[in-house]
Amino acid sequence: MRNPLEVGPIEAPSGGTAEGLVQIGELADGITPVQVPVWIVNGKSDGPIVYLHAGAHGQETNYSVEMLHRLRRALDPARIKGAVIAVPLANILAHQFATRVAPHYAAREGIPFAGDLHKVFPGDPRGSITQRIAHFLWTEIVRQSDAAVDLHAVGHPGMPFCFMYRGGKQEAVGTPVWDLSLAMARAFGLTLITTGPNPLCLAGACLDAGKPAFMVEMAMARVLDETTVTAALRGTRNVLIQLGVIDGTIEKQTDVFVLPTEHRTLPTIRAERGGFINFEVECGQFLKAGTVIARTRDVFGKVVEEIIMPADGYVMTFPPLSWVGNQSVATGDLVADIFA
Ligand SMILES: [Zn+2]
Repeated sequence: MRNPLEVGPIEAPSGGTAEGLVQIGELADGITPVQVPVWIVNGKSDGPIVYLHAGAHGQETNYSVEMLHRLRRALDPARIKGAVIAVPLANILAHQFATRVAPHYAAREGIPFAGDLHKVFPGDPRGSITQRIAHFLWTEIVRQSDAAVDLHAVGHPGMPFCFMYRGGKQEAVGTPVWDLSLAMARAFGLTLITTGPNPLCLAGACLDAGKPAFMVEMAMARVLDETTVTAALRGTRNVLIQLGVIDGTIEKQTDVFVLPTEHRTLPTIRAERGGFINFEVECGQFLKAGTVIARTRDVFGKVVEEIIMPADGYVMTFPPLSWVGNQSVATGDLVADIFA
């Protein structure tokens, strides 16, 4: 028999569910609240508490809201072991404008990335409003959780993948918490790509705290693409099965593109010349070093740059960071995220 589960003022009884909004602060009118939506499904039987974290970036939100809605309807608190805590839309301010960070930061934040909820864990109770959201998520949810999944999305064109920081403050590869994280990501079932350690991202901070965690990057985030929602739901259910929260058999991802084995990021490619990008390869297609992956044209249609693959590998998304409308670039803008 489990205890009731509390997240701030929201309490789910043993064998019950709860949902609510947690207020973090207000906007500049003094009356518009900045809130975090939370739902909890608390099992009757003991087991791990799993945190499903979504919507840290406001342009990556719709698919995960829909997926978590479907998951929640399928979770029976009388049958699950442990509990699921979900935040379907962690960064509501950024969601309103489909931007990576809340737009008001452009005018008011001096601290780089203080407005990027993905880069401020474990947060700061006296920091920016985004740092305060991270602090709430960390202290009220992550601390009592045993594992976390951080749901994001890449821009279009892009391929879905599981993304893993290879540690927080230091490399975690080879440690028990890394092995558990790897098992969760493998259960999710997408192409597995790792990158360097990062203590400020939720998954990296979790590794530092001894909690297994990984990220998911789906494609087609802001449109309700059925294949994307279904694959994300299958993957999340697989993780809950792997952790013993629900019964069932782990299902292979069959409807989305998956590369075998494990891969590593290569440095992101930036544009030397500004202009309009024409992509010439598919995401996930193997490319030899030197392949032209895109051509940049100026407003008169003249090719001003050929974007070259610097090493053998693959493109995972054009453009990186799912910046809406970023398929035209200025000099220095990010053009492609790539991996080997
Ligand atoms: Zn993201």
